Amino acid sequence: QAKSLGRGRSVVFELVMASNQRDDYLLERDLGEAVERNQLSLVFQPKVDLVKRKVIGLEALVRWNHPTRGQNSPGAFIPIAENSDQIIGIDRWVMRSAIAQQARWRSSGSTRLPVAINLSIVDILSPNLVGYLTELLAQYHVPAAALEVEVTESCFMRELGETQNVLRALNDAGIATALDDFGTGFSSLSYLRQLPLQCLKIDQSFIRSMLQDPNAEKLTQAIVAMGIALKMTIVAEGVETKEQMNWLLAHGCHIGQGYFFSPPVPAEDVQQVIERLEVRLSA
Ligand code: C2E
Ligand code: MG
Ligand code: MG
Ligand code: MG
Repeated sequence: QAKSLGRGRSVVFELVMASNQRDDYLLERDLGEAVERNQLSLVFQPKVDLVKRKVIGLEALVRWNHPTRGQNSPGAFIPIAENSDQIIGIDRWVMRSAIAQQARWRSSGSTRLPVAINLSIVDILSPNLVGYLTELLAQYHVPAAALEVEVTESCFMRELGETQNVLRALNDAGIATALDDFGTGFSSLSYLRQLPLQCLKIDQSFIRSMLQDPNAEKLTQAIVAMGIALKMTIVAEGVETKEQMNWLLAHGCHIGQGYFFSPPVPAEDVQQVIERLEVRLSA
């Protein structure tokens, strides 16, 4: 009996797998047309200096509005795009759009804050990434200091040497670099010191659990101390409560990002979100 039950389960499992694979295949097919059909957009989330109570930067996050499925989250389609190399076309669209948006904000007297974009290892390894970015900056008259790049530890795990070279070239061009989702990969602390990175973003899983779980709290404290020792800017991701903000302030992490401050918002709302947020923080 147990045997037949097991068999039934595995049939169900295979059916679910097959339908997931079909789903991925359909998404991958539609993704190929997302750029040309104008289905992508950007939203921007503020990064906040908790001491000065000021917004100090923005992160650009991509959204895909699918004609029949509606909003797809990047958590679902970015991995598919990475596996099919479509990520290069998508992220080059993101780079152009983020820089063009900054040019529009600047010419309309709106925000001049730096904007961070997320890059995949596929982008890092793609030809002429740094040249593409510097040409965009020149074309739109946006200074390199107004652009930042976020990468994850998986880049260093897969292609340490080439990632180092590209990040160094970005730094040489005046573009700062950040390590995203820190603490979720298999970080080798010894190499962190040698990487061309200015900023460490503590993954939101630490922030979510640090006030309940003493081990998570100690780990977060250790990451902050390490970042300070390495003279890196430290950003806490996923700050959702005032208690979390106060903990960060008390433990030397002075920059936060998360729903407590603001969710990511469309470009036209950014200026108002910044102004209202700064009023709320200084109240
Ligand atoms: P990420 O770069 O670590 O971005 C932070 C994610 O956390 C975003 O999800 C953001 O909306 C979400 N978030 C912000 N504050 C909070 C909070 O307080 N609580 C919680 N629970 N979540 C919060 P999103 O926009 O769905 O993006 C997910 C991931 O997809 C990003 O993680 C990034 O790795 C990737 N991604 C997004 N846009 C791009 C892009 O243009 N290019 C590439 N290559 N990857 C992207
Ligand atoms: Mg990021
Ligand atoms: Mg992150
Ligand atoms: Mg992430």
